[in-house]
Amino acid sequence: MTRVTRQEIIDVHCHCFTGAGQTESVTHGLARLREAGVSQLAVMGLVNPDLDAQQVWQLIPEGFENLGGPLFNEADDLLEFNRQSGGMLFPMLDTRMLHGQPQQSIEQLFRRGFRGIKGLYLPDDANDLNISSIPATFGISLKQYLKQEWAIFAFAEANGLPVLYHMDASRYGDMMRAILNDFPHLRINFPHFGIGRKAISQILDRYPNVFTDIAYMLPHIQNNPVSYADFICHYSTRVCFGTDALLYQADIILDYIKLMRSLKLPHAVEDRLFAENPRHFLGLSPKRPEQKIDPAYPVNI
Ligand SMILES: [Zn+2]
Repeated sequence: MTRVTRQEIIDVHCHCFTGAGQTESVTHGLARLREAGVSQLAVMGLVNPDLDAQQVWQLIPEGFENLGGPLFNEADDLLEFNRQSGGMLFPMLDTRMLHGQPQQSIEQLFRRGFRGIKGLYLPDDANDLNISSIPATFGISLKQYLKQEWAIFAFAEANGLPVLYHMDASRYGDMMRAILNDFPHLRINFPHFGIGRKAISQILDRYPNVFTDIAYMLPHIQNNPVSYADFICHYSTRVCFGTDALLYQADIILDYIKLMRSLKLPHAVEDRLFAENPRHFLGLSPKRPEQKIDPAYPVNI
C-alpha cells in the first residue's frame, strides 16, 4: 500500500558541534531535511564553564569533527540556530562538563530556551566510549558525582523535561534501575539500544517511562536487519528515531531515514518510530491528523 500523507520524522538525538561560521550549511541542511519530512531535531548543546581546550577532549569520544568553537560553549549558537530555523530544533543541554553546582547554570539556560537534558554516565574509566570519567576529570568522588547526577534527574523530573542519557545497560544495569526506581516519572531515553539489546530489554520490560533510540547503530542494523527489525517491532512504542548526527550532517540523517524504510516495518510501527515515540519522549503534543474534507461538501471559509 502506498502512503497518501507525508510521514512526519523527528530525530531525538543530534549534536551541535558547530557554530555561527557554519550558518549557511546548517540552514541549507535543515531545508533539505524539512523537504524530507523532518519536523524537529533534538540537538544536544554543550556548555563548558571551566575546562581548557585540551581538557574538553577528554570528555569527547573520537570520530566527531567539531566545527564550532574550541571550548564547546555551544548554547548561544544553538539557540540562535533554533531561532533562525523557526523552532525546528529542540535544544537539549549536555551536562557532561558541568560540575559543582550544575542546577543554577541549568535553570538559567532553561529560561533561555533549552527544553531537555543530555547526560553520559561516566563513573569510571571502563565506559564504552573510551573517555575519561567525571570523577577523574574534575577531582571529585564517585559519591559527589552521583549526587550531582541525581540533582539533574530531580530537576528534569520536577519540570517534565526529557533526559537523553548515554549509559551501558549491561555494565551499569543496577545503577540504571536505581535511577528508574528513584525517578518513576522521568521520561528517559537510553540511546543506542542501551549499548546492549539483551540488557536494555529487561529495563524496557519493567519500566514504562524508558525509551531507547537507534542512533550510531547504522552499520549494525545494516549487518543484521531482520534481528533489529524484530526488536523495533517488539518494542514498537519505545524505540525512537535518532542518528547521533552533528548539526551540519544532514546526509547522515537522510541515510538513517533510508535505512529505516529499507527494513519494511509495518506502517504503524514506522510511524511510531519516526514520530509518535519521539513526540512522547520529548513531551510534544500529538500531531493532529490532517483534516479530511469530503469533496461533496465544499467548505467556504
Ligand atoms: Zn550521541
